[in-house]
Amino acid sequence: MSLAALLVVVAVGGVARRYEVQRVSDQLSEQASLTVSLLSGLMLEAIIVEDVPVLETGLVEAITRYSKILSIHIENSEGEVIAEASNPDAAEAVDFVMYRRPVEFEGFVFGTMVVQWSTEEGKAMVLDKVRQTITWTILAVISMSLLMLYLVYRLALSPLQVVHARMSNAVAGAKTGHFQLPGFASREFQALNVSVGVLEDTFAQRDERELALDHAREQAESASRAKSEFLANMSHEIRTPMNGVIGMAEVLRETDLTPDQQMYTETIVKSGNALLTIINDILNFSKIEAGKLELTQATFNLRTVIEDVVTLLAPKAVEKWVQLTLRYDPDLPEFFDGDAGRIRQIVTNVVGNAVKFTSKGSVHIDVAGRLRGSAVDLQISVSDTGIGIPADKMDRIFHAFEQADGAATRSYEGTGLGLAISTRLLQLMKGRIHVTSSEGKGSVFTISLTLPKSARAPVAFLSDQPVSGLHALVVDDLELNRRILGERLRAWGLRVTEADSAMDALLRLDDMSDASEVCDLIFLDFNMPDCDGYDLAQRIRALPQLERLPIIIVSSVDPAVSQAMLNEVGDCYQVLKPVRSDQLRAVVSHALGATQAETRAEDVAEPSLGASRRVHILMAEDNRTNQVVITRMLQKENVELTIAANGQEAVERYREQQPDLVLMDMMMPVKDGLEATEEIRRYEDLAALRRVPIIALTANAMQSHEEACREVGMDDFLSKPIRKQALLEALERWSRRVKQSPKVEA
Ligand code: ADP
Repeated sequence: MSLAALLVVVAVGGVARRYEVQRVSDQLSEQASLTVSLLSGLMLEAIIVEDVPVLETGLVEAITRYSKILSIHIENSEGEVIAEASNPDAAEAVDFVMYRRPVEFEGFVFGTMVVQWSTEEGKAMVLDKVRQTITWTILAVISMSLLMLYLVYRLALSPLQVVHARMSNAVAGAKTGHFQLPGFASREFQALNVSVGVLEDTFAQRDERELALDHAREQAESASRAKSEFLANMSHEIRTPMNGVIGMAEVLRETDLTPDQQMYTETIVKSGNALLTIINDILNFSKIEAGKLELTQATFNLRTVIEDVVTLLAPKAVEKWVQLTLRYDPDLPEFFDGDAGRIRQIVTNVVGNAVKFTSKGSVHIDVAGRLRGSAVDLQISVSDTGIGIPADKMDRIFHAFEQADGAATRSYEGTGLGLAISTRLLQLMKGRIHVTSSEGKGSVFTISLTLPKSARAPVAFLSDQPVSGLHALVVDDLELNRRILGERLRAWGLRVTEADSAMDALLRLDDMSDASEVCDLIFLDFNMPDCDGYDLAQRIRALPQLERLPIIIVSSVDPAVSQAMLNEVGDCYQVLKPVRSDQLRAVVSHALGATQAETRAEDVAEPSLGASRRVHILMAEDNRTNQVVITRMLQKENVELTIAANGQEAVERYREQQPDLVLMDMMMPVKDGLEATEEIRRYEDLAALRRVPIIALTANAMQSHEEACREVGMDDFLSKPIRKQALLEALERWSRRVKQSPKVEA
């Protein structure tokens, strides 16, 4: 607006000046002509006769009379100056105009009068006029602007301010109530005001809905918490009696029974275990649903985790003659940071399904990955040659309680929760699972997961026993098996030759002996079409110079060859398929003559307790049934068992006897498992004793519970109902450590 006013003033000033200048110059020239014609009339006679003295007198008088004439002279008809006069200021004058006027009479020109006319006064007049015009224009513009401002404020800004205040209140959640705009506000503003009213109502409704939603969510959350707690409690309550049912049935199974009784007990054990799986699944799922599941983060060996799964599921696969194989990319790191337990659970579920839904052929697990900085993008794919999944069911199977074959025609056991749990767990880990399948031919489930690599180095071969450069011959009719075994041996630095049949193996050995090459070790598959591994071992022994070549028979039947037969061949060992990395290491090291290796090849596959010395176990358990169950389970093992009926008693027995291992129930009268463990750990510190492994016997499957146990210093867990196999494995694991670490003398 100021700019516009300024422009108006400048324009008006310009126009006024031009106009005034024109007016004044017209006025001046008129005045000058008038004066000159007057003077020339007066002096006409003197000009004609060129009477100079008269002319000069006249001119001087004219200059004195007309103050605007600066100088004046008269020229005759020839152009000569005949008279002149000038004002004293004429020399310095700047603003003037010159007028030449002919002096004529009756059409005859007698000379010219030239007048220098001052314009100073005229200029001053023009300036004054222009100044006046501009002043008036400025005044007019200012008053117009003020009027405009006032009108804009009254008619537009003030209603707008009011509407704005109302809108801000509405957004902030406050309602302005009944509200009217001033009457002079325009129709558009009135309409805007009505719209804000509508907006206010919408906001209010939205707030109400949100409040109701918050309320509902809180209720749902508390209901979900209650559900989760209820499930945890229920599972605890169910697990305790189940312990009695399954444990006792397992003990009963080992007594003398008629075939019928044997079948009944078998059914009890199987149904019990199935029920337990269902309870675990439901508990797991509800925990994830309630957002209760927290992932732990610790360094773990991925290869071992997957081998655990394979070991667990191998018996089931062998039972159906399904080949279960694992290839772990030798270039892949082994140690990662993550939740090993949950990863094991996911892989167990997927591999378990593959075995369950495959009746002939194979299940192959392939673990590969791509390094990305300090993390690895892992791909665990599980391919099977089973029943496959119809294309339209492919998505559904990842939802809870969904099974491809439908409830009505169900021919496989299961809750339909496994994949839903795995999917949710993977989501928590930012991983995913997907499937490709062809009905009747098989499926491939691929788990993709990115895990940070741990700084820990992979397990190398026994450091005190260099195997690098040794030559091994791997004989197996299946290419995949040769490749998996070969890859692992090569990763340790061995040279590997492969043979796909007994014939081929003999030819290779022959070639080697011709080339005077030494074969240091030979692996034979027990199950080959042309000749079994044991026969081949015998034939190799018969060859010259191979009497002492170490032979390792790899079989999926346990035991494929008796100890007596192995002894007969000599330097012959056997391992059970699928071979775990540490088993392979142990058997190779043993076969190559490592006398320190404590595990003999034949007992690599089956953990059994007390191979060397009696293990002294202290069991703290108040429940009579459980006491009997565990006592019976350990009856045939090389153990000495002391029972304490509560935590207090356990601490006392521990002080008196210092057992090799403690099994600790959690809920006991007088003193519970946590307190007792804390006290034992304190006592160990005081007396500078070796740390005794304490294994918790827990019926509570909640994660928080496990953490509490670890915090007080427990080493491991067995969840109830206790199963014989799990108990023996845990005892084996921990008693081995006891044997390895010598006691610190106090
Ligand atoms: P469950 O195995 O307890 O039924 P899951 O959630 O683990 O539940 O699997 C859901 C369904 O997906 C299974 O019932 C089965 O129909 C299908 N499925 C899963 N894995 C396979 C597989 N490897 N081959 C064929 N079908 C499969």
